[in-house]
Amino acid sequence: MIRANAEELIRKSIARFVDREIIPRAQEIDNKKEFPIEILKQIAEMGVFGIRYPKEKGGAGGNTTLYCIICEELARGLMSVAAITAMQCLMGTNFLFHFGTDQMRQTYFYPAMRGEKFSCFCLTEPEAGSDLGAVSTSAKKTEDGYMVNGLKTWVTNGPIADFFTVLCQTNPAKKFRGLNFFFIPRDTPGVSVSQPFETLGTVTTKMSEVAFSNVHIPEDYRLGQEGQGLDNLMTILAEIRSMTAALAIGLQRAALADSIRYAQEREAFGRPIGKYQLIQAKVANMATQLEASRLMTYRATRMIDQGIPCMTEASMAKYFATEAACTAADECTRIFGAYGYSMEYNAQRYYRDSRFLLNGGGTHEILQTNIARWAGL
Ligand SMILES: Cc1cc2nc3c(=O)[nH]c(=O)nc-3n(C[C@H](O)[C@H](O)[C@H](O)COP(=O)(O)OP(=O)(O)OC[C@H]3O[C@@H](n4cnc5c(N)ncnc54)[C@H](O)[C@@H]3O)c2cc1C
Repeated sequence: MIRANAEELIRKSIARFVDREIIPRAQEIDNKKEFPIEILKQIAEMGVFGIRYPKEKGGAGGNTTLYCIICEELARGLMSVAAITAMQCLMGTNFLFHFGTDQMRQTYFYPAMRGEKFSCFCLTEPEAGSDLGAVSTSAKKTEDGYMVNGLKTWVTNGPIADFFTVLCQTNPAKKFRGLNFFFIPRDTPGVSVSQPFETLGTVTTKMSEVAFSNVHIPEDYRLGQEGQGLDNLMTILAEIRSMTAALAIGLQRAALADSIRYAQEREAFGRPIGKYQLIQAKVANMATQLEASRLMTYRATRMIDQGIPCMTEASMAKYFATEAACTAADECTRIFGAYGYSMEYNAQRYYRDSRFLLNGGGTHEILQTNIARWAGL
């Protein structure tokens, strides 16, 4: 297990990588809209993809706090790179690691840790987003396994993934208790992937539909005990929400740093705009919300690391930090004046990429509903 005092060393090392390899090229990478494979290979070489997994099982022996620190630093550089990395470390590989056979781990998990294979997580369907009880992709029992039919959408990494973790319904009468995760390699007959979607932000993170048509898989491709899909999802939901909050912190830091730099350089009416109180108020609010986001997010990750239930804390952190990231990106475009509207500056990218954070791990309407219930309403 990596100790707390090593956390800052790892943060510094990732930060150096981000400053050297990502930030100077972020705009160019974003403009190209291509999957940033070279950067991801470098991230894999640093052992990042295995950060949450134990050393003795092929991982890097870190914890959720460290995972989130890395996600935060990468998001400070480019949200797309951070999003792909976050998926590869957690949702794309977690159930394969815990429930896959040795052979599945050899063929898919370890190569994924080395950045040789990519993964993704398929929950959402055209008619089932927030309401997972409406998932209709079916996995019907056959003599020697399951037959999968259905359509998943908004699959982050779908166009480039080598294998999919897919939420299916095995018994519609049982609704949530009929949900199960399945491992499905991309080259299984009957699997097809759509063209990547055109999206507002994170344009190098590819998203698509993934269709399953009479896809036959063996019994041991079911990841976990029959009927435990929702319970298994709950084991990582607080971590997913904390990770999304960490991505939001990274974006807030980038927007704040650019805003301060610009406010010091840009002059209006004979003074730097940073001398005006209305600009100072924006920066003060961004800095305060950033600090609050940090406190909430890393409180939740420390609780996860100590095995303390923290769905409320993680949900509040995701809700707060993501709203703060959207506000910070908005304020950044205002501080930049007309140049906030120009594709030459980062401000527009922060604004577009901030929207990426809103849906994953639960929309804010769903989170607010849950928080109000936990608060006693
Ligand atoms: C960039 C991006 C990446 C994504 N990546 C993935 C991925 O990798 N894998 C995957 O499976 N999915 C992914 N998704 C899908 C995401 O998980 C869903 O968008 C999310 O679950 C919401 O579902 P929906 O879009 O169908 O909205 P809906 O559930 O249809 O909701 C529409 C609106 O109604 C609100 N609403 C719904 N129910 C309630 C309620 N009970 N009370 C109040 N308001 C409500 C919602 O908050 C939202 O504002 C991604 C989405 C985006 C945008």
